[in-house]
Parts: sequence; structure tokens; C-alpha cells
Amino acid sequence: MSELRDLYQEVILDHSRTPRNFGEPKGANRRAQGTNPLCGDRATVFLKLDGEVVQDAGFIGSGCSISTASASMMTESIKGKTLAQVEALFETFRELITKDPDARHGDAAPLGKLAVFSGVGEFPARVKCATLAWHALRAALKGEEQPVSTE
Ligand code: ZN
Repeated sequence: MSELRDLYQEVILDHSRTPRNFGEPKGANRRAQGTNPLCGDRATVFLKLDGEVVQDAGFIGSGCSISTASASMMTESIKGKTLAQVEALFETFRELITKDPDARHGDAAPLGKLAVFSGVGEFPARVKCATLAWHALRAALKGEEQPVSTE
């Protein structure tokens, strides 16, 4: 099991060092910003929505390795998915990291590599890091374009 954990850490480190889909994709028509004050993570998620389908996704932001890796892998996972599929993915992901394994009723298989975050549940403070981008994503999908400003 520890080998698996090492592998998971490798994937998270890889995505935090070299985030995928970093930046605003061409033709993005939805965006939302999220912050996690607890850790100081920030993420702005961009989507190119075509009807019910997420054609493209990207993000910018700064934060800890978990928040960056989560945003990176999330944008990879949602491309080409319908809104319903994205919502289902979020529910499965949230269940993966907030419930103990025995209490999960869903199948983690659809998560694919997002399963690397399964260990995050052991660190409740990091759950918000891992879900930050997802909350920004949902806000973007709902059209809640509320720019966060300190001025
Ligand atoms: Zn964080």
C-alpha cells in the first residue's frame, strides 16, 4: 500500500510542478474565482462551454501543491464531458476525499487518476485545497461570475 501512496504523491507533485491547462483557453465563456483562505490557495477556472458540453477548460492561480495538482487534473478530467457528467464526477470526487472508504457507496473507478487524492481525506485541512478548483468550477457553470476583489 505504501508503494501506491508513493505513486500517488508522485502524480500530485508532477501536476503541481507542471500544471496542465494552465491559462485561459481560447474562446472561454465561463469563469469563476475561488479562494481558500485557510491555506492561501487561489484558483480561477475558465471554461469553454458549448451547449451542455465542456469543450475546453483551464485555470490560473497559486497555492499549495494539492490545490494546484487538483485544479490541473480536474481540468484534464472534465474536457469533453457534459454538465451532468461533470456534476457526477464532482460528487464522486468529494465522496472519495471526505468519506472513509467503508462509507462510500459510489464506485471510484470513473475518477481515473483523480483517485490519487484518496489520501487527502486523512488530512481534513487539505480537503479544501483539493476541492477549491471544483467549487470554482461549479460557480463558473452556474454563471456565478463574482470577481473577488480586495479593493
Ligand atoms: Zn492548500
